[in-house]
Amino acid sequence: MIDRRAVLAASLVTAFASRSPEAFASAVSPDDATIKLHGRRLEIVDLTHRLTRAFAFTPGRLSMEAVEGSGTGAGMRLNRLSIVEHTGTHLDAPRHFSPEGRSVGDLSIADLVVPLVVIDIRAKRQLDRDAQVGPEDLAAWEKKHGSLPAGCCVAMLSAWDPLAEVARYGSLSPEERRKSPGFSRAAADLLLKRDVRGIAVDTLSLDAGRDMPDYPVHRSWLRSGRWGLEAVANLDRAPASGAIMFVGAPPIAEATGIPIRAMALF
Ligand SMILES: [Zn+2]
Repeated sequence: MIDRRAVLAASLVTAFASRSPEAFASAVSPDDATIKLHGRRLEIVDLTHRLTRAFAFTPGRLSMEAVEGSGTGAGMRLNRLSIVEHTGTHLDAPRHFSPEGRSVGDLSIADLVVPLVVIDIRAKRQLDRDAQVGPEDLAAWEKKHGSLPAGCCVAMLSAWDPLAEVARYGSLSPEERRKSPGFSRAAADLLLKRDVRGIAVDTLSLDAGRDMPDYPVHRSWLRSGRWGLEAVANLDRAPASGAIMFVGAPPIAEATGIPIRAMALF
């Protein structure tokens, strides 16, 4: 199996060399908002990295070209967008690891508007670049906040910053380069027994770096018919408990994944 992370890591260097620091800085969206609903203030946090060619990392994963249309003469503009499904902040549909599984287009809106549970492993990750969400982290969350809400998404907050990783990459050993936090198989197995619709990570993979390229969590989780989110941003600005997450994903038939606009509302 191709080591996706090694391929990705190699391409990060190329991408970083060809982009200005400003191009990377603009990739994290600061786009939060407050609205009023029935007299109540509602905070909305954008959980999405801005998808630029720099953030797409691998050359060729994202391209855009102008298309001539019948309205071009009248000033109309349109582009042809070519994108690898699993680029930027994105959804992994069950079909990503099971040919018979549901595609992005098969997911219902009930699947995609869910209570958000944030599991903070930042302290653990400070000590271990390959830290994992373990059963003990889930137990600690439930001790503090009560049982996982029905139909929720459980998200890992590790503060793994993809853009900082690019900047660090040149100074890392080959072993270090493969490190990134993720869900442990034991934690995923526990969540499979619960009413949980999806899991989310602020890294590029649901699986921790040490578990690739076997992808044990991708395999068990997606094959159970549930979904995952990768490269989620700004989880530190959402509450650990009490937010609703909206996963904006166009229902494209047969797609195994798709870039999303995810938001936390609370
Ligand atoms: Zn993916």
